[in-house]
Amino acid sequence: RASCEFHPERTVVRVPTANGPVAIGGDGPIAVMAGPCSVESEAMILETARRVKAAGAQILRGGAYKPRTSPYDFQGYGEPALELLAAARAATGLAIVTEVMDSTDLEAIAEVADIVQIGARNMQNYALLKKVGQQPKPVLLKRAFSATIDEWLLAAEYILAAGNPNVILCERGIRTFDRTYTRNTLDLVAVPVLRSLTHLPVIVDPSHGTGLSQFVDTCSKAAVAIGTDGLMIEVHPDPSRALSDGPQCLTPDEFEAVMANLAPIARSV
Ligand code: PEP
Ligand code: MN
Repeated sequence: RASCEFHPERTVVRVPTANGPVAIGGDGPIAVMAGPCSVESEAMILETARRVKAAGAQILRGGAYKPRTSPYDFQGYGEPALELLAAARAATGLAIVTEVMDSTDLEAIAEVADIVQIGARNMQNYALLKKVGQQPKPVLLKRAFSATIDEWLLAAEYILAAGNPNVILCERGIRTFDRTYTRNTLDLVAVPVLRSLTHLPVIVDPSHGTGLSQFVDTCSKAAVAIGTDGLMIEVHPDPSRALSDGPQCLTPDEFEAVMANLAPIARSV
Protein backbone atom coordinates (compact mmCIF):
# COMPACT_ATOMS: atom_id res chain seq x y z
CA ARG A 1 0.00 0.00 0.00
CA ALA A 2 1.04 3.59 -0.60
CA SER A 3 -0.33 4.84 2.73
CA CYS A 4 2.01 5.44 5.67
CA GLU A 5 -0.62 3.79 7.86
CA PHE A 6 0.44 0.45 6.43
CA HIS A 7 4.12 1.27 6.15
CA PRO A 8 5.45 3.77 8.70
CA GLU A 9 9.09 3.75 7.46
CA ARG A 10 9.71 5.88 4.39
CA THR A 11 10.56 3.98 1.23
CA VAL A 12 14.05 4.67 -0.07
CA VAL A 13 14.47 3.74 -3.74
CA ARG A 14 18.08 2.66 -4.23
CA VAL A 15 19.61 2.81 -7.68
CA PRO A 16 23.08 1.30 -8.08
CA THR A 17 25.33 3.23 -10.48
CA ALA A 18 28.96 3.03 -11.54
CA ASN A 19 29.48 6.22 -9.49
CA GLY A 20 28.03 4.60 -6.35
CA PRO A 21 24.48 4.05 -5.12
CA VAL A 22 21.86 6.80 -5.47
CA ALA A 23 19.13 6.85 -2.82
CA ILE A 24 15.82 8.56 -3.59
CA GLY A 25 13.75 9.30 -0.47
CA GLY A 26 14.80 9.09 3.15
CA ASP A 27 17.11 11.61 4.78
CA GLY A 28 20.05 11.61 2.37
CA PRO A 29 20.97 14.14 -0.32
CA ILE A 30 18.30 15.00 -2.87
CA ALA A 31 18.44 13.10 -6.17
CA VAL A 32 18.84 15.15 -9.34
CA MET A 33 17.73 13.82 -12.74
CA ALA A 34 18.71 16.08 -15.62
CA GLY A 35 18.98 15.91 -19.38
CA PRO A 36 17.16 16.70 -22.59
CA CYS A 37 13.47 16.21 -23.21
CA SER A 38 14.38 13.95 -26.17
CA VAL A 39 17.57 12.13 -27.10
CA GLU A 40 18.49 13.79 -30.41
CA SER A 41 21.99 12.59 -31.30
CA GLU A 42 25.03 10.87 -29.85
CA ALA A 43 26.95 14.12 -29.57
CA MET A 44 24.18 15.99 -27.74
CA ILE A 45 23.36 13.23 -25.26
CA LEU A 46 27.03 12.64 -24.43
CA GLU A 47 27.72 16.34 -24.02
CA THR A 48 24.62 16.84 -21.87
CA ALA A 49 25.46 13.78 -19.76
CA ARG A 50 28.99 15.03 -19.06
CA ARG A 51 27.82 18.52 -18.21
CA VAL A 52 24.97 17.50 -15.89
CA LYS A 53 27.25 15.04 -14.13
CA ALA A 54 29.89 17.70 -13.61
CA ALA A 55 27.22 19.97 -12.13
CA GLY A 56 26.18 17.27 -9.64
CA ALA A 57 23.29 15.32 -11.20
CA GLN A 58 23.34 11.58 -10.51
CA ILE A 59 20.74 10.52 -13.08
CA LEU A 60 20.44 11.30 -16.81
CA ARG A 61 16.97 11.80 -18.27
CA GLY A 62 16.18 11.61 -21.97
CA GLY A 63 13.16 10.56 -23.98
CA ALA A 64 13.35 7.86 -26.65
CA TYR A 65 9.57 7.42 -26.99
CA LYS A 66 7.88 10.81 -26.69
CA PRO A 67 4.21 11.41 -25.83
CA ARG A 68 3.59 14.45 -28.06
CA THR A 69 0.31 16.34 -28.07
CA SER A 70 0.38 16.56 -31.86
CA PRO A 71 0.94 13.46 -34.01
CA TYR A 72 2.83 15.68 -36.48
CA ASP A 73 5.50 16.65 -33.94
CA PHE A 74 8.76 14.78 -33.38
CA GLN A 75 7.92 11.45 -31.73
CA GLY A 76 11.38 10.45 -30.46
CA TYR A 77 13.97 8.21 -32.09
CA GLY A 78 12.89 5.03 -30.25
CA GLU A 79 15.34 2.11 -30.12
CA PRO A 80 18.35 4.01 -31.53
CA ALA A 81 17.83 6.57 -28.76
CA LEU A 82 17.88 3.77 -26.17
CA GLU A 83 21.27 2.72 -27.53
CA LEU A 84 22.52 6.29 -27.16
CA LEU A 85 21.32 6.36 -23.55
CA ALA A 86 23.23 3.13 -22.90
CA ALA A 87 26.33 4.74 -24.41
CA ALA A 88 25.90 7.82 -22.20
CA ARG A 89 25.62 5.60 -19.14
CA ALA A 90 28.75 3.69 -20.13
CA ALA A 91 30.64 6.96 -20.67
CA THR A 92 29.57 8.71 -17.44
CA GLY A 93 28.27 6.10 -14.98
CA LEU A 94 25.05 8.14 -14.61
CA ALA A 95 21.85 6.18 -14.02
CA ILE A 96 19.23 6.49 -16.76
CA VAL A 97 15.55 7.40 -16.54
CA THR A 98 13.43 7.20 -19.70
CA GLU A 99 9.74 6.93 -20.49
CA VAL A 100 7.72 3.90 -21.56
CA MET A 101 4.49 4.58 -23.46
CA ASP A 102 3.73 1.12 -24.82
CA SER A 103 4.23 -2.13 -22.95
CA THR A 104 5.61 -3.78 -26.09
CA ASP A 105 8.70 -1.54 -25.65
CA LEU A 106 9.03 -2.20 -21.92
CA GLU A 107 11.56 -5.01 -22.11
CA ALA A 108 13.96 -3.04 -24.31
CA ILE A 109 13.52 0.08 -22.16
CA ALA A 110 14.05 -1.77 -18.87
CA GLU A 111 17.29 -3.21 -20.24
CA VAL A 112 18.74 0.29 -20.59
CA ALA A 113 16.84 2.26 -17.94
CA ASP A 114 17.67 2.23 -14.25
CA ILE A 115 14.32 3.91 -13.64
CA VAL A 116 11.30 3.49 -15.94
CA GLN A 117 9.21 6.65 -16.33
CA ILE A 118 5.44 6.69 -16.67
CA GLY A 119 4.48 10.06 -18.13
CA ALA A 120 1.61 12.29 -17.08
CA ARG A 121 -0.51 11.13 -20.01
CA ASN A 122 -0.25 7.49 -18.95
CA MET A 123 -0.70 7.87 -15.19
CA GLN A 124 -4.08 6.16 -15.44
CA ASN A 125 -3.11 3.63 -18.11
CA TYR A 126 -3.82 0.78 -15.73
CA ALA A 127 -2.67 -1.98 -18.09
CA LEU A 128 0.71 -0.24 -18.43
CA LEU A 129 0.92 0.34 -14.65
CA LYS A 130 0.38 -3.39 -14.06
CA LYS A 131 3.12 -4.21 -16.57
CA VAL A 132 5.72 -1.89 -14.96
CA GLY A 133 4.67 -3.32 -11.61
CA GLN A 134 5.62 -6.79 -12.81
CA GLN A 135 9.19 -5.86 -13.72
CA PRO A 136 11.99 -5.10 -11.26
CA LYS A 137 13.24 -1.62 -12.23
CA PRO A 138 12.06 1.33 -10.08
CA VAL A 139 9.23 3.38 -11.59
CA LEU A 140 8.94 7.18 -11.75
CA LEU A 141 5.21 7.96 -11.80
CA LYS A 142 4.37 11.44 -13.02
CA ARG A 143 1.13 13.10 -11.96
CA ALA A 144 -1.54 13.35 -14.64
CA PHE A 145 -2.66 16.85 -15.71
CA SER A 146 -5.90 16.66 -13.75
CA ALA A 147 -5.25 13.92 -11.24
CA THR A 148 -6.21 14.42 -7.62
CA ILE A 149 -3.70 13.29 -5.01
CA ASP A 150 -5.88 10.25 -4.27
CA GLU A 151 -6.08 9.24 -7.94
CA TRP A 152 -2.30 9.58 -8.17
CA LEU A 153 -1.75 7.44 -5.08
CA LEU A 154 -4.15 4.79 -6.41
CA ALA A 155 -2.18 4.74 -9.66
CA ALA A 156 0.96 4.14 -7.57
CA GLU A 157 -0.89 1.30 -5.83
CA TYR A 158 -1.41 -0.45 -9.17
CA ILE A 159 2.37 -0.70 -9.42
CA LEU A 160 2.85 -1.70 -5.78
CA ALA A 161 0.04 -4.25 -5.95
CA ALA A 162 1.62 -5.85 -9.03
CA GLY A 163 4.74 -6.54 -6.97
CA ASN A 164 7.09 -3.58 -7.50
CA PRO A 165 7.70 -1.63 -4.24
CA ASN A 166 10.01 0.99 -5.82
CA VAL A 167 7.76 3.82 -6.93
CA ILE A 168 8.82 7.50 -7.02
CA LEU A 169 6.08 10.12 -7.39
CA CYS A 170 6.81 13.16 -9.57
CA GLU A 171 4.84 16.42 -9.38
CA ARG A 172 5.06 18.01 -12.86
CA GLY A 173 2.37 20.66 -12.79
CA ILE A 174 -1.38 20.37 -13.22
CA ARG A 175 -4.03 22.08 -15.36
CA THR A 176 -5.71 25.06 -13.78
CA PHE A 177 -7.78 27.93 -15.20
CA ASP A 178 -4.85 30.20 -16.04
CA ARG A 179 -2.22 29.02 -18.51
CA THR A 180 -1.41 32.51 -19.76
CA TYR A 181 2.05 32.81 -18.24
CA THR A 182 3.04 29.22 -17.40
CA ARG A 183 2.46 25.90 -19.19
CA ASN A 184 1.07 24.27 -16.03
CA THR A 185 0.49 25.13 -12.37
CA LEU A 186 3.26 23.61 -10.28
CA ASP A 187 1.50 22.20 -7.22
CA LEU A 188 4.30 22.37 -4.68
CA VAL A 189 2.04 21.82 -1.68
CA ALA A 190 1.57 18.31 -3.06
CA VAL A 191 5.02 17.54 -1.61
CA PRO A 192 4.16 18.00 2.10
CA VAL A 193 0.64 16.67 1.51
CA LEU A 194 2.09 13.46 0.07
CA ARG A 195 4.63 13.33 2.88
CA SER A 196 1.70 13.19 5.32
CA LEU A 197 -0.05 10.45 3.34
CA THR A 198 2.55 8.15 1.84
CA HIS A 199 5.93 6.57 2.52
CA LEU A 200 6.86 6.83 -1.17
CA PRO A 201 9.52 9.36 -2.30
CA VAL A 202 8.30 12.50 -4.05
CA ILE A 203 10.24 14.57 -6.58
CA VAL A 204 9.42 17.77 -8.49
CA ASP A 205 9.81 18.59 -12.20
CA PRO A 206 9.91 22.40 -12.46
CA SER A 207 10.63 22.23 -16.21
CA HIS A 208 7.26 20.75 -17.22
CA GLY A 209 5.71 22.36 -14.14
CA THR A 210 6.33 25.86 -15.47
CA GLY A 211 7.18 25.33 -19.15
CA LEU A 212 9.66 28.19 -19.08
CA SER A 213 13.38 28.00 -18.37
CA GLN A 214 13.39 31.39 -16.63
CA PHE A 215 11.32 29.99 -13.73
CA VAL A 216 13.21 26.73 -13.20
CA ASP A 217 15.79 28.15 -10.80
CA THR A 218 13.29 29.72 -8.38
CA CYS A 219 10.92 26.75 -8.49
CA SER A 220 13.79 24.32 -7.87
CA LYS A 221 14.72 26.24 -4.74
CA ALA A 222 11.09 26.32 -3.63
CA ALA A 223 10.76 22.57 -4.21
CA VAL A 224 13.83 21.88 -2.09
CA ALA A 225 12.60 24.23 0.65
CA ILE A 226 9.23 22.45 0.78
CA GLY A 227 10.87 19.06 1.18
CA THR A 228 11.23 17.37 -2.20
CA ASP A 229 13.32 14.19 -2.38
CA GLY A 230 14.63 15.14 -5.79
CA LEU A 231 14.33 17.20 -8.96
CA MET A 232 13.88 16.41 -12.63
CA ILE A 233 15.21 19.21 -14.84
CA GLU A 234 15.42 19.47 -18.64
CA VAL A 235 18.83 20.49 -19.99
CA HIS A 236 19.79 20.84 -23.67
CA PRO A 237 23.10 22.03 -25.18
CA ASP A 238 21.18 24.45 -27.45
CA PRO A 239 17.56 24.87 -26.28
CA SER A 240 16.63 27.07 -29.26
CA ARG A 241 17.20 24.05 -31.53
CA ALA A 242 15.61 21.38 -29.31
CA LEU A 243 13.23 18.99 -31.09
CA SER A 244 10.88 19.12 -28.07
CA ASP A 245 10.30 21.42 -25.07
CA GLY A 246 13.01 23.95 -26.00
CA PRO A 247 11.41 26.88 -24.11
CA GLN A 248 11.72 25.04 -20.79
CA CYS A 249 15.19 23.53 -21.29
CA LEU A 250 18.15 25.03 -19.44
CA THR A 251 21.56 25.32 -21.06
CA PRO A 252 24.29 23.34 -19.27
CA ASP A 253 25.63 26.63 -17.88
CA GLU A 254 22.21 27.59 -16.53
CA PHE A 255 21.84 24.14 -14.98
CA GLU A 256 25.19 24.52 -13.28
CA ALA A 257 23.99 27.82 -11.79
CA VAL A 258 20.76 26.21 -10.55
CA MET A 259 22.76 23.48 -8.81
CA ALA A 260 25.10 26.03 -7.24
CA ASN A 261 22.11 28.04 -5.98
CA LEU A 262 20.61 24.92 -4.40
CA ALA A 263 23.74 23.95 -2.51
CA PRO A 264 23.12 26.20 0.52
CA ILE A 265 19.53 24.98 1.01
CA ALA A 266 19.53 21.37 -0.20
CA ARG A 267 20.09 18.40 2.09
CA SER A 268 23.30 18.40 0.02
CA VAL A 269 23.38 17.96 -3.75
C1 PEP B 1 8.87 14.34 -20.09
O1 PEP B 1 9.37 14.09 -18.97
O2 PEP B 1 9.54 14.63 -21.10
C2 PEP B 1 7.40 14.35 -20.23
C3 PEP B 1 6.80 14.10 -21.40
O3 PEP B 1 6.78 14.68 -19.09
P1 PEP B 1 5.21 14.69 -18.71
O4 PEP B 1 4.76 13.27 -18.85
O5 PEP B 1 5.25 15.17 -17.29
O6 PEP B 1 4.53 15.63 -19.65
MN1 MN C 1 9.77 17.30 -22.01
